[in-house]
Amino acid sequence: MPSRRLLLMNTRKHIALIAHDNRKHDLLDWVRCNRGTLLNHDLFATGTTGSILATELGLDISRFASGPLGGDQQVGAAIVEGRIDFVVFFSDPLEPHPHDVDVKALLRIAVVYNIPVACNRATADFLVSSPLMKEEYRRLTMGIEDQLVRWVQPVPAERPRSEPLPTELLMREPRAIS
Ligand code: PGA
Repeated sequence: MPSRRLLLMNTRKHIALIAHDNRKHDLLDWVRCNRGTLLNHDLFATGTTGSILATELGLDISRFASGPLGGDQQVGAAIVEGRIDFVVFFSDPLEPHPHDVDVKALLRIAVVYNIPVACNRATADFLVSSPLMKEEYRRLTMGIEDQLVRWVQPVPAERPRSEPLPTELLMREPRAIS
């Protein structure tokens, strides 16, 4: 039986807010518009995003390191530890970033732990207006065993010793070099 875990999301969610530089204005505006709802939850952010939100909106927000310096990895680790259960990440789809691999790792771990993730404003609007924001929610996470289920090919019986090897497997006599 694959082991799956049910993790409880409280009515008060632990929300990580992240924005790439070109999307910080969008996130700031979105947080401003949803401030009333977000105040009912515990807010976290990567370094620069968190500083902007705290300064501009006076929010009480816990900060990880800046994204390029490992902040996205810290958010991923916090998901694994059960300290983050909701992510709003306004990512920039038009520019490469030095920490793209960290972002990919964060999004992967969010899938593993069945975390709601919004990477654009429309998704964030739908998520934050869900009735589930005010309710407890049981998150079903992936068990590692799910990944290990394999189709096992039947193993051929060992060849009896008396049976001669097929000719194509026999070593050829080395040819003399003239
Ligand atoms: P920042 O990091 O909030 O420190 O800018 C976000 C990111 O680029 O991942």
